[in-house]
Amino acid sequence: MTSNEQAAARARAVIPGGVNSPVRAFGSVGGTPLSIVSASGATVRDVTGRDYVDLVASWGPALLGHAHPEVVAAVQQAAARGLSFGASTPGETELAELVIDRLQTGRRAEIERLRLVSTGTEATMTAIRLARGATGRDVIIKFAGHYHGHSDGLLAESGSGVATLGLPGSAGVPADIAGLTLVLPYNDRAAVEAAFAAHPGRIAAIIAEAAGANAGVLAPDEGFNAFLVDTAHAHGALFILDEVLTGFRVGSAGWWGLEQQAGQRWTPDLVTFGKVIGGGMPLAAIGGRAEIMDLLAPLGPVYQAGTLSGNPLAVAAGIATLRLADAEVYRRVDAAASAVADAAHAALAAEGVAHTISRAGSLFSIAFRADPVRTYADAKAQEAWRYAPFFHAMLAEGVALPPSVFEAWFLTAAHDESALERIRAALPVAATAAASA
Ligand code: PMP
Repeated sequence: MTSNEQAAARARAVIPGGVNSPVRAFGSVGGTPLSIVSASGATVRDVTGRDYVDLVASWGPALLGHAHPEVVAAVQQAAARGLSFGASTPGETELAELVIDRLQTGRRAEIERLRLVSTGTEATMTAIRLARGATGRDVIIKFAGHYHGHSDGLLAESGSGVATLGLPGSAGVPADIAGLTLVLPYNDRAAVEAAFAAHPGRIAAIIAEAAGANAGVLAPDEGFNAFLVDTAHAHGALFILDEVLTGFRVGSAGWWGLEQQAGQRWTPDLVTFGKVIGGGMPLAAIGGRAEIMDLLAPLGPVYQAGTLSGNPLAVAAGIATLRLADAEVYRRVDAAASAVADAAHAALAAEGVAHTISRAGSLFSIAFRADPVRTYADAKAQEAWRYAPFFHAMLAEGVALPPSVFEAWFLTAAHDESALERIRAALPVAATAAASA
């Protein structure tokens, strides 16, 4: 039988680092990454045949749990009709209608058009291009610790404050491109105002995760998203809401929907989706008002395209997933998230480990510090080394956590009482490991 070590060694010989996306390599927790052969409901199975309760959920898409029978059947039926046509399909329209319906607040059609792409990276890259095309401006604002995919301009990391343009966050990103991205501290209104004051008439858009969830969970302060919309508009810029991770995961209309329910009244100019919208298949989307979205080719001058965009298998998975993702699904995911977050808190508190649980709807993460986390700087100022022993103790007990302290834990509607019981049983062991680190 193949071991995970053997699978990883074989992979490393032909795939850089043995992985097709870096965090899979267990770089920050050490040890051998799992090589997964199948998954069902709340569990994943590795090459040795061992099952783990999964809190990665494919990094978000598996809202319903892995391999939901109705989603799998929809994909199988679509596959039998042909894998890709390079032409329009009725399914694409159906998915766009489904998404737009979910985003209606009853006031007016805020999201009127949707274009389908294959990855979240493409969605945010296209949203930025649209914002630049619509405004005729070049500079964008993003927040430190927010991830929007790996396109050149969005990898820019924190620079030296408000007035300073960002530095490349990756080798291979030209400084001229990174220099068009201003990186600001999250939840910092003064920094946003100062950036607009320092670059009058140059800022095309602010892009923000609807609720930050890529540096651990960084929830927006109440009213912060509304402030971003108002400030962008006051200066002739657009607001791009990145719901790739939160969209259709934290609620039926994403994080934006939760804020609307809570009485916040604001509308993004453009919104990006990914992950859940494709139910585990490569699918993502950009949405917005017709006047902006219709700037896209073939109607307008902003070019964007894709051989596999709107792929019929991905669309079938997306439609099936969104149709199944009803209020009961969100209730179950919320309840499972609360159960796990509470159990993690209790286990760490019992061992006297300083920690805080950051939450944004059903998304949460643990930070090994006592104080709340509002910014990327806060997230980095923690006893991060406690996570590796915590993670490995969980893994040994049969629970697969995200292999980094800077990631959210993902629950699914398939995390039933028996899955939750396995997590609850493992947490005290992991808390002891974290305490002695
Ligand atoms: N935006 C956000 C908020 C994300 O979380 C991610 C992926 N984690 C992306 C964009 C990029 O999506 P993809 O990995 O599909 O390119």
